[in-house]
Amino acid sequence: MVKERINSILRELPEGVRLVAVSKYHPASMIQEAYDGGQRIFGESHVQELVGKYEALPKDIEWHFIGHLQTNKVKYIAPFVSLIHAVDSDHLLKEIDKQAKRCGRIIPVLMQVHVAKEETKFGFAPDELLAYMQSGAWREYTNVSIQGLMCMATNTDNDAQIASEFEQAKQLFEMVNGKWLNGQWKTRSWGMSDDYPIAVRHGSNMVRIGSLIFGERV
Ligand SMILES: *Cc1c(COP(=O)(O)O)cnc(C)c1O
Repeated sequence: MVKERINSILRELPEGVRLVAVSKYHPASMIQEAYDGGQRIFGESHVQELVGKYEALPKDIEWHFIGHLQTNKVKYIAPFVSLIHAVDSDHLLKEIDKQAKRCGRIIPVLMQVHVAKEETKFGFAPDELLAYMQSGAWREYTNVSIQGLMCMATNTDNDAQIASEFEQAKQLFEMVNGKWLNGQWKTRSWGMSDDYPIAVRHGSNMVRIGSLIFGERV
């Protein structure tokens, strides 16, 4: 079941778009089922749950942390996490760098940008992100590797609005990448179960899909 759903999503995704199977709130047995079908990238958004699943499941899984990460919890996932999607402050980036050093790792991360019309306290506003990149503070963090942007669109049925939000993220990605990164950024993480077809038409190369694969979360 899980395997069939993953395969039907993979058939639709353009080449070069990676699938993060968002397994939060679902049991390890369902992750194992997806793993047996060939899926290797899984996304979780709670630290304790992620650590438990990491310990229980095969060690070649690429674990992505996709939720809001509290600085005091970075230390628990730093030894093994493959990508942290939602860096929303200098403070968090600094802590990831510190914990990565302690583990002798370089941890890949994405910056979260807030393009949705919804109120949320998470993510850099586009102008804040530009100011932060301009400040150069991130260059001091030698044990993190910033690889791109992550965003979420407004939860709405208005496809044109969703498309314009993803388009804004794409333009921001290109601007930052050209201006400060010499084109080294590679990852554009946007698109979930309800909006990933729009996301891949507007620049996404990493989709984070949960309920469409694993069913509704309980
Ligand atoms: C839960 C979650 C997803 C997956 O959402 P679905 O609608 O179940 O596909 C994607 N991204 C983030 C940040 C999430 O928290």
